[in-house]
Amino acid sequence: MGNILALCEFNGAQLRSSALANLTFARAAATAHGGEVIALVIGAGAQGASAEAAKYAGKVIVVEDGALAHYLAETYAPIVARLAKEHGATLVTATATAVGKDLMPRVAALLDAGMASDVAKLEAKDTFTRPILSGNANSTVQVSTAVICTTVRQTEFEPAAPLAAPGTVTAAPAGAVDALGASFERLDAQKSDRPELTDAKVVVSGGRGMKNGENFKVLEELADLLGAAMGASRAATDAGMVPADWQVGQTGKIVAPNLYFAVAISGAIQHLAGMKGSKTIVAINKNKDEPIFQVADYGIVQEWEKAVPELISEIKKLKATR
Ligand SMILES: Cc1cc2nc3c(=O)[nH]c(=O)nc-3n(C[C@H](O)[C@H](O)[C@H](O)COP(=O)(O)OP(=O)(O)OC[C@H]3O[C@@H](n4cnc5c(N)ncnc54)[C@H](O)[C@@H]3O)c2cc1C
Repeated sequence: MGNILALCEFNGAQLRSSALANLTFARAAATAHGGEVIALVIGAGAQGASAEAAKYAGKVIVVEDGALAHYLAETYAPIVARLAKEHGATLVTATATAVGKDLMPRVAALLDAGMASDVAKLEAKDTFTRPILSGNANSTVQVSTAVICTTVRQTEFEPAAPLAAPGTVTAAPAGAVDALGASFERLDAQKSDRPELTDAKVVVSGGRGMKNGENFKVLEELADLLGAAMGASRAATDAGMVPADWQVGQTGKIVAPNLYFAVAISGAIQHLAGMKGSKTIVAINKNKDEPIFQVADYGIVQEWEKAVPELISEIKKLKATR
């Protein structure tokens, strides 16, 4: 019997939708481990998000301390590991976000725990399915250590529903915080009114065929008409056409929106690994033989210079009639 410690990332007083997917996984793991879910909110503003976390977990531990004002794996990992021990956790889990991917291997090392990353399915208390080979195959891994660490794929787990009654919130001290020589320098955040790429219901992505950053403006117009987030292929982000955090794919963000536009993107397996779970895929490409058309539900074989403005104009006409 053991508990499940679930890291819950938050934004202001709200849990991120990625945290709700982690909690769904944590609930299934708690049943398998015969324990309970303990949600962990940690960092600047954690106190504010703890009430929200209590809607989804019977127990919430909140750690807020001036020394944790900015996320650093070096300062967070020992706290997560200590709380896992104190609360009898046999599984510690986070979503496979930038923070989760950065933090959990260090937590696993501190706990002498085996780790399964990018988990897509819980098979048994110690057995997980995870994608390999750019999502072209699944592997089943069994972790034999007493404590297990996981990161889970947001797109594979439904958001947790609230509990009938909220859980209890307990504050825990950060203790002595040692950054091991690391220090926070600055955060280069892209400010945007658009939805978060990983949370968006519609995503408009552009590739190398957009040719330059200026040309992405037409995709942004399409995105704004649809309330969509912007994405891109790695070729486009590596070329500096658009910000790096727009990258969708194996080494970028994993998205599964209701509607995904792939414009001037060839459909390399590493890109598909990040978006092929999308419910409806629309591809616009001038070359009908590109692999993107093999996963597309709708395909437009045309230069984007013609297809995208026409699409925008049709959507505007439709919107005007409503
Ligand atoms: C380890 C590793 C990890 C990687 N991770 C990622 C990742 O996370 N995400 C990712 O995206 N890639 C990733 N890649 C890179 C990937 O292999 C491809 O190189 C990349 O996805 C190609 O991007 P693209 O489709 O934009 O460019 P290209 O393959 O060059 O395709 C451009 C497309 O634009 C079309 N086009 C050109 N002009 C027009 C026009 N006027 N109108 C319409 N269509 C036009 C072309 O027909 C073509 O299909 C990774 C590679 C490696 C090795």
